[in-house]
Amino acid sequence: MRIYKGSAVFNGIAIGTISLYRKNESQVKRVHSEDADIEKERFRWAVEQAGEQLRELYDKALVEIGETSAAIFEAHQMMIEDDDYADSVEHIIDTQQVNAEYAVACTADNYAAMFKAMDDDYMRERAADVKDVSNRIIDILNGVRNDITAENQSGLIIVAEDLAPSETVQMDKSKVVSFVTRYGSANSHTAILARTMNIPALIKVDFPADSGSDSIDGKPAIVDGYSGVLIVEPDEETIARLTKRRDEDVRRRKLLQELKGKENITRDGRRIELYANIGGVSDAMSALHNDAGGIGLFRSEFLYLGTDNYPSEETQFAAYKAVAEAMAGRKVIIRTLDIGADKQADYFGLEHEENPAMGLRAIRICLERPDIFKTQLRAILRASVYGNISVMFPMIISVSEVKRVKEILEEVKEELKSEGVPFKDIETGIMIETPAAVMISDELAREVDFFSIGTNDLTQYTLAIDRQNERLESFYDSHHPAVLRMIELVVKNGHEHNCWVGICGELASDLSLTEKFVDMGVDELSVSPALILELREKIREI
Ligand code: PEP
Ligand code: MG
Repeated sequence: MRIYKGSAVFNGIAIGTISLYRKNESQVKRVHSEDADIEKERFRWAVEQAGEQLRELYDKALVEIGETSAAIFEAHQMMIEDDDYADSVEHIIDTQQVNAEYAVACTADNYAAMFKAMDDDYMRERAADVKDVSNRIIDILNGVRNDITAENQSGLIIVAEDLAPSETVQMDKSKVVSFVTRYGSANSHTAILARTMNIPALIKVDFPADSGSDSIDGKPAIVDGYSGVLIVEPDEETIARLTKRRDEDVRRRKLLQELKGKENITRDGRRIELYANIGGVSDAMSALHNDAGGIGLFRSEFLYLGTDNYPSEETQFAAYKAVAEAMAGRKVIIRTLDIGADKQADYFGLEHEENPAMGLRAIRICLERPDIFKTQLRAILRASVYGNISVMFPMIISVSEVKRVKEILEEVKEELKSEGVPFKDIETGIMIETPAAVMISDELAREVDFFSIGTNDLTQYTLAIDRQNERLESFYDSHHPAVLRMIELVVKNGHEHNCWVGICGELASDLSLTEKFVDMGVDELSVSPALILELREKIREI
């Protein structure tokens, strides 16, 4: 078994046989030509042929992968119909007395160099497009036609140095299960197409060159798009493990197709919102992909973990804005810093505690260190104008805490107002994750717009069972009636005071409780993105 690491541009598991793709690259030779008119005529003819091929590809892509992704072939058509492009080719033919192939190759190199020099990432990626479309013209001039999946085989993992978008779309998807490239970037059209085509794909994989005994061509292999690895000649344990994962994926994708765009509504018409829990900007894509109605819990502390200093207001603002924009008007609930207990960052300089789960954590730190808290609130408020943001405070135990938090929020708003910085009046909520908050939820409900029940901590504090301690598993009952009754009480108290109630702890994704939650009148469930569609299926069966 050999493992080659890369980075995934689309996750999933593919099991198949490697087909090493060798580009049928047209050799471009500089040939002296006396008759410029003939070369120009050949060039115009090749452009016409290329235009027809691109129209065919566009139609094929439109059906298979949708309009947005098919648009690349329209863009290619525009490139070859561009007057400047044609003028450049014809000028080279005229002035250098060369063949059309050579003039096209020179123009492609010049254009690619210009695109590559641009500041914008997207424009830099267009260098590959101009090369791709110019190679098409050169192939036509040379009478060459590339066919990526001509082999009479299925289950192909296409491994290539690089793949142009036109090559990936020409793949017969009934034969190809994945592709893997040595080069390429996550922003390229190939990567975008791969995601749309639902094919797990890896880039930047350093596989051995096609020679001698280490050639991987024709070898059985697995592409693990979750860990970003290509496994050549996998052993039995790996095959069994990843086959199971792939089968789960297949089921999930089927759900995705059937349930995307459908409502989270029971047979008797009760509706519940399904949102996603995320830890950072990159998870927002997964939330969208799984058709989340919003973000129910953005665990903002992840911005503070894995760094060696406090994230600046700008860093946080950029992250919150990116998620708000990506969710395009859907609700994004940002939970303020929940550091402490199991989530430690050394630079906070927190003292060692005997019992950190009951120690200085979450809102307690924010209230003791308002400077840190205010930086975060400024970032959240500033980002609010880019979408539909709400703010939520963790580990609340008293009304006075909520009042103090609201005062600080008002102070920050005043500051922003005086600086002329725009923000929206955002919804505020609290997490209900302590028995104290449950018992006074009637009073708390008067202070906020929503509650989100954090069953992970609520269970730990109610049952006095450390959620981190594996040895206590036999005592742990996630369906303990005390916790379920607490949820019911919180929903009742919340609703009596006009406060909507969701659940964002792990219990929200427990399908055996979904019906109970709907019956209790829970308004929203927020779960890992990958679980949303299964939950939607469950709700629609109630
Ligand atoms: C919870 O306690 O249920 C919760 C959602 O918060 P976290 O798991 O981040 O503590
Ligand atoms: Mg919690």
